[in-house]
Amino acid sequence: MAAGRTWLVPALAFGGVAALAVSAMLPRPVEAKNRFALEPPNVEQKRAYKYAAMSGADCLKELDRRKVPYKLEPPTKQVDTPLRFTGPIRGVAFKLTKRAEENPDPVSPAAVADCRLALAIDDMAQVLAKRKVKTVEYLSMYRKRGVGFIRPGKRHPAGLAIDVATITTRGAPVDGTEPAPKDTTYSVYGDWHPSRVGGTTCGPKATKPRKNTPGARFLRDVVCELADQGSFNLLLTPHYDWGHRDHFHMEVRTGIRWFLIQ
Ligand SMILES: [Zn+2]
Repeated sequence: MAAGRTWLVPALAFGGVAALAVSAMLPRPVEAKNRFALEPPNVEQKRAYKYAAMSGADCLKELDRRKVPYKLEPPTKQVDTPLRFTGPIRGVAFKLTKRAEENPDPVSPAAVADCRLALAIDDMAQVLAKRKVKTVEYLSMYRKRGVGFIRPGKRHPAGLAIDVATITTRGAPVDGTEPAPKDTTYSVYGDWHPSRVGGTTCGPKATKPRKNTPGARFLRDVVCELADQGSFNLLLTPHYDWGHRDHFHMEVRTGIRWFLIQ
């Protein structure tokens, strides 16, 4: 024990100093080391980039123009322009999953979004509405955990990310496959069928699902159209890591020029 301790202490001290020195030399965020993190040549034209760069006032003006139903929230730590949806968006209801719901949607902190995320969610609703989607269940948007620890303008503590768990369509999903007789719910956990972590999600080199089911095709179709639309600069599926096996992480991050779709 004693020998172990004397060996460990200097090793940890050295490791800590070395890690600090290395992180100071790396200007790029750690995610950007992922091979799927790419800066598009026309990044300034991408919706996520434009949304992230908007002022709160301009963002709200745009949200009003689109007639997205919302109400402003009282100041929420680390969220620039906090708000809460008050009804379906383009006919698509966004609801907390039963599992995540500690409080009802009208009061739960997990249902608070920054305005920039709300614009991207409105774009997502367009993609979903044409597929006859009626409900999206999500695990959370805002999360207090990490507030003050994670840099502002990033992830859930900034209200800039949504974790989507299930998508329910009215009747048959519109992807040219077999019709479903009634409402169909696809879950990321049960229907994505990842062949492996590290897979490619969209494009000609996309990894094939382990099972070629209507749900697997539907979910890929949705994610890849969202990727083309460019409203989220981070779109992570179960291909990204084990932590994302049951949800899609969709984020509008400020201050970055790269997109990470996996
Ligand atoms: Zn997330």
